[in-house]
Amino acid sequence: MNLFDYPAEPFRIKSVEPVRMISREEREKVIKAAGFNTFLIPSDDVYIDLLTDSGTNAMSDRQWAGMMMGDEAYAGSRNFLHLEETVRELFGFRYLVPTHQGRGAENLLSQIAIRPGQYIPGNMYFTTTRYHQERNGGIFADVIRDEAHEASLSVPFKGNIDLHKLQRLINEKGAENIAYVCLAVTVNLAGGQPVSMRNIREVRELTARYGIKLFFDATRCVENAYFIREQEEGYADKPIADIVREMFSYGDGCTMSGKKDCLVNIGGFLCLNDEELFSQAKELVVVYEGMPSYGGMAGRDMEAMAIGLRESMQFEYIEHRVKQVRYLGNRLLEAGIPIIEPIGGHAVFLDARRFCPHLTQEQFPAQSLAASLYLESGVRSMERGIVSAGRDQHTGDHHHPKLETVRLTIPRRVYTYRHMDIVADAVISLYQKRQHIKGLRFVYEPKQLRFFTARFEEIG
Ligand SMILES: *Cc1c(COP(=O)(O)O)cnc(C)c1O
Repeated sequence: MNLFDYPAEPFRIKSVEPVRMISREEREKVIKAAGFNTFLIPSDDVYIDLLTDSGTNAMSDRQWAGMMMGDEAYAGSRNFLHLEETVRELFGFRYLVPTHQGRGAENLLSQIAIRPGQYIPGNMYFTTTRYHQERNGGIFADVIRDEAHEASLSVPFKGNIDLHKLQRLINEKGAENIAYVCLAVTVNLAGGQPVSMRNIREVRELTARYGIKLFFDATRCVENAYFIREQEEGYADKPIADIVREMFSYGDGCTMSGKKDCLVNIGGFLCLNDEELFSQAKELVVVYEGMPSYGGMAGRDMEAMAIGLRESMQFEYIEHRVKQVRYLGNRLLEAGIPIIEPIGGHAVFLDARRFCPHLTQEQFPAQSLAASLYLESGVRSMERGIVSAGRDQHTGDHHHPKLETVRLTIPRRVYTYRHMDIVADAVISLYQKRQHIKGLRFVYEPKQLRFFTARFEEIG
């Protein structure tokens, strides 16, 4: 191992939050009371929390200082102006509509840009994104390259759109029946896989030929830019900010969950270039979020977000971020644990199909694996498989995603490499007794976004 394969944390720790581990007997009670759903475990009962990287970021001293500069005026807050100016500069889009988080922006975009019956091609679905598309009468069409559905295929830029699939969809349905293309950078459910600049450019060229708009799901755009710099020819010396800006120069706007790459705990926004769409979005934002100058966020939150977005583009930050995730992934690979390859930008995904080959997908192997990991170690993770995929709106059957995974999601700037070691050791020890992991069945199944609040019991 080279000294700088895994750079040390590029920060000093100035404020700490104690964590504690409860006993195994207590964890057994907790996981039963949570209906084997890690979303329902009280945070105090978790030792290392890798449920999500969403809103779990640690803010910097500068961001906290910015919080004190909150202008909580109902209208025209100076923090909004700062955020607007920052996003314009870093993303290059003309208009900004703030929202309380990413799905608030997805709600607005889906309402203004989708007519019922239209298709929205995307590079793999995301739960809340697809939900809002379908709620507005849209039909999601997966146009990600085939390799993205194969956990063990290690190819670079596994998040790319397959241009042939997109072309075929346009030919079959007609360009007028495509609402827009939704391009996620990186692709969360594929394992945090990036999209290459070349692919973004080609998608832009193809959609432009048909007058189809291209909107980014910008949630992890900084992580995506790091992969481009690291792995795509011609970008090795480019500043991260320049790469992000080039990526977005090919789009018509984006939705953003600030809870990820803006390094804050709450917030989001919608960006648009089109003036007419912007005007419609502003009319709707007052219904769902608040005035167009706060959109569900406090002034102080907008200030922290403006500062955080800029910090996220510092090379030392993003390099450590991606390499810390890679450190965990490589420790697991060295021990022969099946994970999605290559290792993505925000999480390591355990491949539950290979981890629990004794369970069928309808016995929810990933859900059960996540529950077992908590029981064994106090480490909290998240199911990203059949439970998250939900049911088909029309037939009522489960969607059966090829990827059946448990996501170990690393919060930004929160844990150290030593925490990663503990997580790796916990997974390795569970792998040695994996045949004892039992299947699950629903005792409560919510109709929408069921993974958040579903409850299960063990079979047999
Ligand atoms: C988290 C996320 C969203 C939704 O954002 P929220 O802030 O949780 O509402 C959308 N897309 C992707 C890829 C995400 O990871």
